[in-house]
Amino acid sequence: MSESEWTKILGWPGYRVYRSEINEGAKTLRLWVRRKRGNRKLECSGCGRKSNEIAEVYEREVRDLPWSEYRTTVVIELYRVRCPDCGIKAEKVALLPSKAPFSKRFEEAVGQACESAPVRRVARQFGLAASTVRAIDLRYLERWARERRRPALRQMGVDEIYLGKKQKFLTVVTNLETGEPLWFGRERKKETLDEFFEKHLSAF
Ligand SMILES: [Zn+2]
Repeated sequence: MSESEWTKILGWPGYRVYRSEINEGAKTLRLWVRRKRGNRKLECSGCGRKSNEIAEVYEREVRDLPWSEYRTTVVIELYRVRCPDCGIKAEKVALLPSKAPFSKRFEEAVGQACESAPVRRVARQFGLAASTVRAIDLRYLERWARERRRPALRQMGVDEIYLGKKQKFLTVVTNLETGEPLWFGRERKKETLDEFFEKHLSAF
């Protein structure tokens, strides 16, 4: 297979495959990638500033989605940039969202699997330790929460739900425009709402 065919199937935007290694016995595939010509806009991972000053070239190997039965890892050529504000820093690469040895889409596949299966089963499916799956899932959820745009809170409603004799009431704060519940508090006292205003309102 030619380099351009490897590159097409891998589908990492801005990167091309320049070397590949198949191990039929171990059922592993290893691909080496570097930036395509014309994809040289480097960004400091510390502050996001654009930078052209390369301080160092290095490699990282990350697990990516499997190709058929082959477990696949990608060795990616990366740069450290000289940033006027942060000093020497790794470049920011969207495909690598954390320092862990996984690509973004691999972490997404694991995170999505966790939505419908217990951690231990996901760990077996991907050949990972359960603790690794938990860490990936947490990062996946954090990214999801960060990317999710929250509608502005302009009108707030406060309601109460009667839970029965034992637990009595629950206070619910909702966004009146979207109908989305924002917060739940125990009981229906003044202190319940005070807690919302003091500790939680700023989050909205
Ligand atoms: Zn910087």
